[in-house]
Amino acid sequence: MKIVIIGAGAMGGLFAARLAAAGEDVSVVDVWAEHIKTIRTQGLTLETEQGEVRAKPAAVTRAEDLTACAADLAIIFVKSAMTASAAQSAQALLAPAGRVLTLQNGLGNAEMIAAVVGAEKVLAGTTAQGATLLGPGRIRHGGRGDTHIGRLAGPADDFCREAAAILTRAGIPAFAEDAVQSLVWGKLVINAGINALTAILRYSNGQLNDHEETRELVKLAVTEAVQVAAAAKIPLPYGDTVEKVLAVAAATATNRSSMLQDIFHGRVTEIDAINGALVREGMRLAVPTPVNRTLTLLIKALEKNQGIQE
Ligand code: NAD
Repeated sequence: MKIVIIGAGAMGGLFAARLAAAGEDVSVVDVWAEHIKTIRTQGLTLETEQGEVRAKPAAVTRAEDLTACAADLAIIFVKSAMTASAAQSAQALLAPAGRVLTLQNGLGNAEMIAAVVGAEKVLAGTTAQGATLLGPGRIRHGGRGDTHIGRLAGPADDFCREAAAILTRAGIPAFAEDAVQSLVWGKLVINAGINALTAILRYSNGQLNDHEETRELVKLAVTEAVQVAAAAKIPLPYGDTVEKVLAVAAATATNRSSMLQDIFHGRVTEIDAINGALVREGMRLAVPTPVNRTLTLLIKALEKNQGIQE
């Protein structure tokens, strides 16, 4: 299977390094010129607990430079604000029967990709793998966990099973699933409860469990999210969702959420695809979401106020 990864940052770099090291035919497209230059000259270096993994996938800054590619699978790993332009790159690179997979966080990525390539070509899912971009060509493999892949429009098919098998052989345990929307929403609800609050409060994930006030804030945000999911008729994969979110915060206690890291580094966050997406879905389904709207507005205000430290 010819694979192209669009967005070779922390996660795209992790998947590219693992797949290339396993002997798969993998190329990467990333707009960051210095990163691509380093991958072309020195390869990708993945720091793991077992030592370094090195791989040298083909690497370009523009999809047009891979025109003869005809990818069977394009995996989009840009941040959600860049999904629409990554989908255009995927469309330019795809073989006629090729598929596009998104394992990005948040809601709406798969639909944005579907608007460009057609829903029948879109695979969506979640991954519990984690990674950090250390610098050009260098990535640290963080948390490990399962990856779930399914079709946006229909039950899992042989393509999903083959893609899952390829990832599993490369050291990324993956499973084909029939109901990915439930998993995507499950992760959305966890991110909605943790990311914005940790970014606003400048807390590590575990600190959300430390105070009555923060546990209550998590509960308020997550309860709205559960109500929106119910109105959208998406069954969430947990019993007590608030308890699940607090348990994830405890299990990842020392982590700084990606949204907190984005705020620290002056980057645009994925708020529009997380709490902001719940607000939009809530409006569509007549479910009030004042807490998620407040969190969204606070993060957007923080994004605009980067220079001030004290
Ligand atoms: P990242 O910022 O490390 O990497 C994104 C990369 O995309 C960057 O290298 C950037 O240069 C590149 N890019 C931007 N616009 C582009 C474009 N138009 N075409 C090609 N490349 C482009 O982000 P990340 O942490 O790898 O996250 C990617 C997605 O995966 C996000 O949705 C995130 O929520 C999700 N995710 C991340 C983790 C994690 O541990 N980092 C875990 C699970 C899911």
